[in-house]
Amino acid sequence: MSLLTLTLAQASKALHTGEISATALTTAYIKAIEELNPRLNAFITPTPELALAQAKAADARLQAGTATALTGIPIAMKDLFCTEGVRTTAASKILSPFVPPYESTVSAKLKAAGAVTLGKANLDEFAMGSSNITSAYGPVENPWKRAGSDAKLVPGGSSGGSAAAVAARLALAATGTDTGGSIRQPAAFTGISGIKPTYGRCSRYGIVAFASSLDQAGPMARTVEDNAMLLNVMAGFDEKDSTSANVAVPDFTRALTQGVAGKRIGIPKEYRLEGTNPEILALWDQGIAWLREAGADVVEISLPHTKYGLAVYYIVAPAEASSNLARYDGVRFGARVDGHDLIDMYERTRAAGFGPEVKRRIMIGTYVLSHGYYDAYYLKAQKVRALILRDFQQAFEQVDAILTPTAPSAAFGLGEKMDDPVTMYLNDVFTVPASLAGVPAMSVPAGLSSEGLPLGLQIIGKHFDEETVFAVSAAIETAAGFSALPELRAK
Ligand code: GLN
Repeated sequence: MSLLTLTLAQASKALHTGEISATALTTAYIKAIEELNPRLNAFITPTPELALAQAKAADARLQAGTATALTGIPIAMKDLFCTEGVRTTAASKILSPFVPPYESTVSAKLKAAGAVTLGKANLDEFAMGSSNITSAYGPVENPWKRAGSDAKLVPGGSSGGSAAAVAARLALAATGTDTGGSIRQPAAFTGISGIKPTYGRCSRYGIVAFASSLDQAGPMARTVEDNAMLLNVMAGFDEKDSTSANVAVPDFTRALTQGVAGKRIGIPKEYRLEGTNPEILALWDQGIAWLREAGADVVEISLPHTKYGLAVYYIVAPAEASSNLARYDGVRFGARVDGHDLIDMYERTRAAGFGPEVKRRIMIGTYVLSHGYYDAYYLKAQKVRALILRDFQQAFEQVDAILTPTAPSAAFGLGEKMDDPVTMYLNDVFTVPASLAGVPAMSVPAGLSSEGLPLGLQIIGKHFDEETVFAVSAAIETAAGFSALPELRAK
């Protein structure tokens, strides 16, 4: 048995029966990282020594009978989660020397459950991007290639390091964050599953803020079940986050066997966008057929304000980002470039510390919030956001869940879609509406493109109804039987 082929659920069982040890499992992953991270760049900061110490403690817990389902499970932590004593960069130069004196709530919960952290995973700078090319620590390479081509592909973003690590077997699972699609789109690009929970489900405390009304942490893993096991631990009320929801956390794994018989699934007609790759539309139809065969009732629905989703997102998210990123002033956090007076120091620090995409977002954000434009842009966007939320609320009066594609294309080449930022922003067309509405949404790998690249389907649910999202996702996963793997290692 190769340790690297186990799913999280399988590894958890094998750890509990004593068939494998946390130390052996962790060592196998550390070796895999040593072998492949120089090429894939999925981790900014691997932490092998820490991982081995945590694995040793996990083995002791397993022996003592105090282990949880996640004890001894080696995971990657997106480098947006503050980790006490371990450098946290947000993939930005400005945070390159930042070693947080505290731990984010989500990473603390995973630690307390006994999960082993293999290191901090690469991402787009401050989670702004859809391809991981905005990282100040270099791009991440997607472990997948087009059939017959050696061109390097992007893993999606912003949680591209997390996605590549899981897909390439450099971690058993990973944490991600999703502001407009950053868990779902990279999951789709790399053939793994990932869920953005309901806004407020997981604490934002200690996660480097991008757009606070949208940011949400979630798991990324090989199977729907693995995601449910992780979310069980990551979710929950936290008084340190003012928007954390005080809602009970069910055992999400129990939803997996619910099935979809009798469930009503909505197909939003506005998502049949012109220009979407026909293969993706065909896969969507296949997904509809699978759910029908499994006993679901599939109905067409309308989400009429979908077409404004991207425009609203690219006003609201930069506006919040420009305000959140004001704190990087060379005084309180991270790097500083000295100047001849205070203002000059701020300017030099921020000019040197932020990359071009982050600067673009700060400029868009300050512009739409500025006196004279606030009403025309920001206020208007907030109003349309309310309409997008209403679309979902009305749809969910008729249906239990919604099925859509995750992204309009398969993974694209490193260097493609770079000339025009708007082309890059179009990647988020299917994921952004659920973020604006705050509803949970999951991506599940459902098939391969004609070029041999993974494609994902997205399942969107009602607020705090991740259980139905998991049930429908599990049904798609079973029907799709997706088992393809990227060819990385010698056969
Ligand atoms: N790609 C989107 C953006 O660039 C979403 C990123 C995210 O969800 N963090 O903002």
